[in-house]
Amino acid sequence: MRQTIVAGNWKLNGTRDSVKNLINGIKNGLDNNDKACVIISPVAIHMGLILKLLSDFSGIKVGSQNACANDSGAYTGELSCAMLQEYNVEYVIVGHSERRSLFKENDDDVANRFKAVKDSGLIPILCVGETLEERESDQTEVIISRQLDAVIDKFGVDSLQNSVIAYEPVWAIGTGKTATGEQAQEVHNFIRQKIAKLNQVISDKIQILYGGSVNGGNAKELFGKNDIDGGLIGGASLKADEFLKIIKAAN
Ligand code: PEP
Repeated sequence: MRQTIVAGNWKLNGTRDSVKNLINGIKNGLDNNDKACVIISPVAIHMGLILKLLSDFSGIKVGSQNACANDSGAYTGELSCAMLQEYNVEYVIVGHSERRSLFKENDDDVANRFKAVKDSGLIPILCVGETLEERESDQTEVIISRQLDAVIDKFGVDSLQNSVIAYEPVWAIGTGKTATGEQAQEVHNFIRQKIAKLNQVISDKIQILYGGSVNGGNAKELFGKNDIDGGLIGGASLKADEFLKIIKAAN
């Protein structure tokens, strides 16, 4: 059985006070019956504070919103995997559509970042997803394949071991427009079958999250699908009550 993951991506949000309240709100709302693995990915500057608030609590893991492919050197504005590891960060989102579109990270950049995360022993959450235009022109599978192959062709299918994939249709991110359970399941199944052709064990084990306007109202339906192993949550992870509803939907 694959454990459900509910991962919050806080993006560029939060103040000292608001992140403190948010983390405490989530922490206080969790209980022993909750089955999901809960991850929070804050802005880097808030990580120290959050790790301190979680020092006596193992129910929430900390993720980074990105990581550099290089360990150190002249890479202004980047964070290395070694640095993240030193501070007990466990997961790293790579290839988020905002990184791809706004910061021009191409498939190869994403693959190199993914590999650096893997090599350091952290767990990558590799984001893939098509735009509305690509979906409407029947290119969804072509795009998802290209994004996955950038990693598989360069580093082999074995690099997907102990990794997480997030299917995030770009048209559903931050738009309030969620893929239906069926639409998401269809793509998740495509991803799992694609990996199965190369390695059945990895395909059976890999957690594939859905991301794109998940909220307390639609999480249960999505998480109920065979190949959907949880969610990568943007907006709704910034409200403790709503995020907790999503976590509870995994029970
Ligand atoms: C995201 O940014 O990864 C995301 C899924 O955002 P939202 O939940 O706000 O659509």
